[in-house]
Amino acid sequence: MSDKETLTTAAGIPVPDNQTSLTAGERGPTLLQDHYLLEKLAHFNRERIPERVVHAKAAGAFGTFTVTQDITRYTKAKIFSEVGKQTEVLGRFSTVAGEKGSADTVRDVRGFALKFYTEEGNWDMVGNNTPVFFIRDAIKFPDFIHSQKREPHTNLRSDTMQWDFWSKVPESLHQVTILFSDRGIPKGIPYMNGYGSHTYSFINAANERFWIKFHFKTQQGIQCMMQEDADDMVGKDPDYHTRMFFEAIERGEYPKWTFYVQVMPELEAETYRWNPFDLTKVWPHADYPLIEVGVLEMNRNPANYFTDIEMAAFAPSNVVPGISFSPCKMLQARLFAYADAHRYRLGVNYERLPVNAPHATKVVNTYQRDGFMRFDNNAGAGPNYEPNSFGGPVENPAFAEPPLKISGDADRYEQKRGVDDDYIQPGNLYRLMSPDEQARLIKNIVDHLGNTPEAIQEKMVEHFTRADKDYGARVAKGLGLA
Ligand code: NDP
Repeated sequence: MSDKETLTTAAGIPVPDNQTSLTAGERGPTLLQDHYLLEKLAHFNRERIPERVVHAKAAGAFGTFTVTQDITRYTKAKIFSEVGKQTEVLGRFSTVAGEKGSADTVRDVRGFALKFYTEEGNWDMVGNNTPVFFIRDAIKFPDFIHSQKREPHTNLRSDTMQWDFWSKVPESLHQVTILFSDRGIPKGIPYMNGYGSHTYSFINAANERFWIKFHFKTQQGIQCMMQEDADDMVGKDPDYHTRMFFEAIERGEYPKWTFYVQVMPELEAETYRWNPFDLTKVWPHADYPLIEVGVLEMNRNPANYFTDIEMAAFAPSNVVPGISFSPCKMLQARLFAYADAHRYRLGVNYERLPVNAPHATKVVNTYQRDGFMRFDNNAGAGPNYEPNSFGGPVENPAFAEPPLKISGDADRYEQKRGVDDDYIQPGNLYRLMSPDEQARLIKNIVDHLGNTPEAIQEKMVEHFTRADKDYGARVAKGLGLA
């Protein structure tokens, strides 16, 4: 007998032979009775779960969030209740458009998703490495993503589809300018910022509401990859960012981000010059300065990628008392879409998987029962309806949020305040770039946009010109347009 553990079937039955199948005679055929062989092949056939339609390729790690400044005047969330307080975190950092096996060093927005395992349940901050997004109304989202994915006829990604969509949706110009700037290809996960991007809200102990933007600024400094180096790396090491992130943490070089918030008192939203719930806009720092909150550190690699990262399910709808939503139309849709995607991808009991379950005991108390793969005790003998007379959990009005005043006619609104609304902030961004950065931005755009029909190029030049005359003129010159 060997001193190694005995290999078993999934039912725990010892396996006598893992190298030769059970056959009738030396040359076969194979006997159906070899249930271990059948189980092995059948399970293998079912190893893949649906790939995320966006953000499929990712690296992730566990870490710690530490409060460094008191923000209890803005929020009652217990995660922020005292300076020095620490909370366990899971982070997942992804590209957006590529499939699960696609290369890391491509020009793309990066997902920046955090799950804070707080004592009041999980808070998921599901952001990106950019403070804005391409669209501000979720009704455009499936079309936008289709334009980023593969063309139906050729099954190839298409510059024409991408620029065609952007040329017809000028609200995308701000994000397009960030995407084609140096920040469109980070040097690695530790070298990019994270942003909540949407406006969220805080609610304090006095039940006052503040509108909030979340910022995670890299302590490693922003570092980007030049296009040529990134292209090279696609061939040399398509998993470069994943590898660098994992190896840095293995070496004990833990990436850190300083967490800041911008805070807008509730009523200022009515008069602020920008619609503060428009996901294509930032709040300029001069209007709403960054207020430090704490430090995020990623310091433990997953023990198993599938259970810890692939099955991790982040949803912006997971907020804890003291943190809440805003009217942002994109956020409102994501409150539905993320949990819905996980039900499809992982099944209705996905929140019970170890990586998704709150760490605090006694926080999950629902009347949800059954469903595929219900593997906890399914609330045992407890009542499965409410109200009941048998001591089941009850609602607690202490957690009600202050009412939010809303007015207006039900209609479909484009959410614009002035004709230049889509152009001022992209222009501001262009003007704050150094001459070298501007030159690289123009080259990156020209290299891409140059592959599209002239009518699309001309439309885009019009948009760049409205953001900044020099921006438009230089793109036009690069494209050889009059
Ligand atoms: P500020 O001068 O106060 O802020 C400029 C900010 O721009 C910086 O703090 C930095 O944000 C960011 N930035 C600098 N260089 C680049 C670059 N090449 N690509 C992308 N972002 C860069 O001005 P405003 O607040 O008025 O913002 C001006 C423009 O800066 C905006 O239109 C927006 O495009 C961009 N920006 C603004 C942010 C905000 O929340 N106000 C956040 C990020 C970008 P950071 O420190 O976060 O890296």
